[in-house]
Formats: sequence, structure tokens, C-alpha cells
Amino acid sequence: MIQEAFNSDTLKGRVALITGGGSGIGFGIATAMVNAGAKVVIASRKTDVLEEAASKLKAIGGDVAWVQTDVREPEQVKRAVETAVDTFGGLDIMIANAAGNFVVPSATMSLNAWRTVIDIDLNGTFYCAQAAYPHLKASKFGGRLLAISTMRALEGWPGCAHAGAAKAGIISLIRSLSAEWGADGIRCNTIAPGAIGNTLGVQKIYEDQGDEVRRQQLAQIPLGELGRVEDIAAAAVYLCSALGDYVTGTDLVVDGGRQRRMQEGSGANGKKESAA
Ligand code: NAP
Repeated sequence: MIQEAFNSDTLKGRVALITGGGSGIGFGIATAMVNAGAKVVIASRKTDVLEEAASKLKAIGGDVAWVQTDVREPEQVKRAVETAVDTFGGLDIMIANAAGNFVVPSATMSLNAWRTVIDIDLNGTFYCAQAAYPHLKASKFGGRLLAISTMRALEGWPGCAHAGAAKAGIISLIRSLSAEWGADGIRCNTIAPGAIGNTLGVQKIYEDQGDEVRRQQLAQIPLGELGRVEDIAAAAVYLCSALGDYVTGTDLVVDGGRQRRMQEGSGANGKKESAA
């Protein structure tokens, strides 16, 4: 049903670079963008994952390239951007999706763990934004910078303080850039997913923990079910298409209403550590 909401003209002519595009939500966004007519470059560390993802995307008719990239390294991020420009002639959409996270109490978190998550999530997003900037400015469609936050970012994330701080930083960064780069036609937004099913983090924390944990988690979601990768991908296509032309500086929450339930204090969250 979601696929039918867009067609192969929705992103026709646009080039997208997606970090972490070989797996999970990033691969879902890459798939939706290929189906919407974009040319897509996926970038992350594991070449076997990228290669397999690229062949799946080519099998559905995509113009696709991949480039090995560690987003903690600004030079590698620049090279990923250059790969997109050299391969497909420009860059219209930059999606900073790559992230790392794990549950660990702050009192015993190693400094290396703190630095690593901040480096991948927050610093990596800034490197992507800065490297992509001149090309997004040159985009005839109006460039799109999209980063992935989380609905846990702004209220604090017990058990995942490093990721919560990084994601809150990403929201602030993207808001700043939307004001700085609006005159260049660049729309800068974040998407805040809730708990998305069939992703590694959510599988580990909720789905594999037995029926009771699953039931408790679902009870926190007004719509009563985990999100799908396709739900996030659809939001990404919307924001990066002409439909999203007048949207910038926003954090689009796609969480089945979970944030509202947490704010009204009727859910069990906050008492529990969770990775999504
Ligand atoms: P995932 O399956 O763990 O994917 C993370 C991706 O990031 C992988 O493709 C990984 O590829 C890449 N990556 C990690 N470190 C990297 C690095 N240093 N350099 C380049 N790439 C790196 O995660 P996901 O669940 O799809 O999440 C995608 C995004 O949504 C993340 O920003 C996450 O925080 C956010 N999010 C997810 C949920 C959820 O429910 N799943 C909820 C809220 C927010 P390599 O290993 O090949 O590098």
C-alpha cells in the first residue's frame, strides 16, 4: 500500500546518498527511493553488506552504487559524496542515517563507548552535511538534507544516554542548518522513528524477549503495533520529493503515537531501558 503512494516519477532525476543504506531502515529508504525513481548510492563500513544490498536494489531496476565509508572519518565521507557526484552527476539528497547504539548504564559506560556513539551519530551527521552542502546548493530540485533522530532524543533516554545526547544534538544541528541554508534552497529535516519492527535493536530488546515484554511494549503505542521500515522510508520519500518542498527545520515523528503516550505518563516506558 505504501509503495503505491508514490510512483517512479516521484524522485525522478534525483541522486541520493544514504549512509547505513545497506541494512535496516537505511536499506528500506534506499529501496523506496529506487522505487520512486532516484539514483542511489549507499555507504557504510561492511563491503559484503553493501555489495549484497546493491545487487538487491539493482534487481528491482535501480541505478545504484556503493562506497565503503566510515562516517567517523571526514575524508571518507567526502569521498562518498564525490562518488555520488562522479557516478551520477550530482547530489540532490543526503541522508545521514548511519548510527551506533547499545544499552549501557551511564555510571559504568566507558569513555570510548561515549565517544564512539557521539562520533558516528552526531559528528558523522555534521561531516555528511558539510561535505554535501555545495552539491545540495547546486541541486535544481532544491537540495535535501535528512538525518534520522529518534522520538527518545529530547526527553532523555535512560540506558542509552550517549545515543540520546547525540540524537538531540542532531535535531539541534539540523534546525540550525535549516536556517543557515534555507536561502540556498536546501531543506533540512529529521525523521524521528519510534520502535521499528524487524530491525536489529528492536528485535533484541523487544521482539526476542518473549510475549510479556512484547505485550508491554505494544501497550505503549496508541496504534498498537511496531512501526515498519516502510513507514520511515515513506516519510523520507515525502520529505525529499516535491511534496516536501515547503518543509524545513522539522522533526517528523513517525512512532504510532508512542511519544504522546510517554508524555501523558500512562506508559511503562521511562521505567525500562530500551534501545529504540
Ligand atoms: P542498523 O540496522 O543497526 O543500521 C545501522 C547502519 O549504520 C548499518 O547499515 C551500519 O552499516 C551503519 N553504520 C554503523 N556505524 C557506521 C559507521 N561508523 N560508518 C558508516 N556506517 C555505519 O540500524 P537501524 O535500526 O536501521 O537504524 C537506522 C537509523 O534509525 C539510525 O540512525 C537509528 O538510530 C535510527 N532509529 C532506529 C530505530 C529503530 O527502531 N530501529 C528507532 C529510532 C531511530 P555498517 O555496519 O556496514 O557500517
